[in-house]
Formats: sequence, structure tokens, C-alpha cells
Amino acid sequence: MTSPLVYAGPCDACNGDLHARPDASRVACQWCRDEDGQRLVYEVQARRKWMLGALEDKTLTAPAIARALTSLIRPIKPALLHTWVARKKLHPAGLDDLGRMLFRVGDVIELMAAGDARAGERVSVVA
Ligand SMILES: [Zn+2]
Repeated sequence: MTSPLVYAGPCDACNGDLHARPDASRVACQWCRDEDGQRLVYEVQARRKWMLGALEDKTLTAPAIARALTSLIRPIKPALLHTWVARKKLHPAGLDDLGRMLFRVGDVIELMAAGDARAGERVSVVA
């Protein structure tokens, strides 16, 4: 069984989706070549950091945030966000048209990092 690829953002040149192996430090665009015929290569960690930065100030529903952060940081379930709301650690940033709670992505990233620190894990969420 091969491990699933993680999304590593769009290629700067063609805007195509880049997918890297979870342990890979670099990812190559499957479509682009430079002048020498080499594939365009990106640093996965830098891409991830960039994507997290771009997401930080967005407000999204719990399932959307869980989906995004699961692929960028580590698995997280939407229910955890509601647990944090119940414990008053997380405050909704508003409601969408359907009345679902919206959260600021950066708040969730911080709570994930705080959880990591408490668990004594040496996982740094934003490297
Ligand atoms: Zn490309």
C-alpha cells in the first residue's frame, strides 16, 4: 500500500496542483520543465508554510478547516473544533448563509499547536 499524496499547493508556472509524498522535502510539477528540460521542483515545507499563511485569516466552516488542515498539518476532525467551542477555547468568527459556524483558520492552527506542546510532542506546526 502506498501512502496517499499530500496537496502541496499550485505550481507557480502552470497553476496545476502539486502533490508530494508525505515524507518528501521536495515536489516536482508533473507538467512543467525548465529550459534545460528538468522538471520544476519546489520545497514542500516552504509551500506548506505559504499555504498556511494564505489560509490563516480566512474564515471557513469546521469541515472545510478540518479538510484543509488534515492535508497540511495532521489529521483533525471537525468535531474537535466543536469541542473547543464548548470549552470556550475557540470562538466562532460568524455564521455562513446556512447558519453554520465559521472559524478563523489561524485560531484553529494555534489550538492545534497548543495541543502539541501540551502533549510534549516535538511537532512544530508552523516550521
Ligand atoms: Zn507546473
